[in-house]
Amino acid sequence: MLKIFGIRKALLTLAIFALSATAAQADTKIHWYGQSAYKIETPSGGVILIDPWLTVPTNPDKNSITELGKVDYILITHGHRDHVGDALEIAKKTGAKVLAPYGLGFNLVSVLGFPQDQVMTGGNVGGTIDLPAAGAKVMIVNALHGSELTAPQLPQPAPGQPAALTSGNPVGYVIEIKGGPTIYHTGDTAAYEDMKLIPMFHHIDLMLACIGGYFTMDPAGAALAVQWVKPTHVIPMHFGTFGLLAGTPAQFKGALDKRGLGKRMIEMKPGEDRSF
Ligand SMILES: [Zn+2]
Repeated sequence: MLKIFGIRKALLTLAIFALSATAAQADTKIHWYGQSAYKIETPSGGVILIDPWLTVPTNPDKNSITELGKVDYILITHGHRDHVGDALEIAKKTGAKVLAPYGLGFNLVSVLGFPQDQVMTGGNVGGTIDLPAAGAKVMIVNALHGSELTAPQLPQPAPGQPAALTSGNPVGYVIEIKGGPTIYHTGDTAAYEDMKLIPMFHHIDLMLACIGGYFTMDPAGAALAVQWVKPTHVIPMHFGTFGLLAGTPAQFKGALDKRGLGKRMIEMKPGEDRSF
C-alpha cells in the first residue's frame, strides 16, 4: 500500500512538474509591420527589430514608433531605404544596439549620423554574433542583391558626387533563439543554390522570405528557395508595398503546392502577430 502510494505521489509530482515547465516556457512573438520589418520578442524578454521601416505605408498602425517599448537590437540587412527604414530614429529613442554588415555599419555612422557607440562592429557573411540581451545568436548569410545608400538618404548629389554610395554586402540573418525558434530572414535576395548550405548549419523553424519580384525572388523563386532551405514554416514578405512588388501570397502558395510544400506557408497581414 505504501509502495503504491509512493508511486502515485511520484506520478503526481511529475505531472505537476511537467505542467509548471510548460507554463514557464514562454513563446517567441513575431510582429510584422509590412515590407521586411519585423519585431521579435524572445522567451528571455529580449526585443529584436529587423529592417525596421515602421512607417511603411502598408502598416495599419501609424503610431508604431511611439508605441515601441524597449528594443535591444536592430538588425539591418542592407543599405536600401526600405530596410534601413526608421532605424536612426528608433536607435536614438531606444538606445538599441545596431547590427549591420561591415561596410554599411561605417556608413550608418559617418553618412547617416547613427550614434557611434550603438553601432556594433559589423560582422560579415559566415560569422555568428552573440546577442546576449535577447538570449540569441545570429549567423550572417549571403544575399544576392545590392547595398547602396541613395536619395533621399543621401542629399541630392552635387555634380561629380556619387548618387549611390556602396555600403558593404547585402545579407540575410539566421537568428537562433534560446528556448525558441530559429528564424531565417532572407533580406532582399535572389534564390541562389548556396541556400542549400543553410540547413546544414541550422534547422530553420521559420523562414521570412521575400516574394515580390522585380528586385528580389518572385513567388516561383521563393518556392525553390524554400525547397532548398527546408524550413518548417515560411512567411512571405516584401510584396505589395508598391506596384513593382507584384508577387502575391496566393501565387507563392501555388508555387509551393507544386513542390508539395504548400502546408508550410503562414500568411500574415501587416500589423499582425504570431507566436512560435
Ligand atoms: Zn527591399
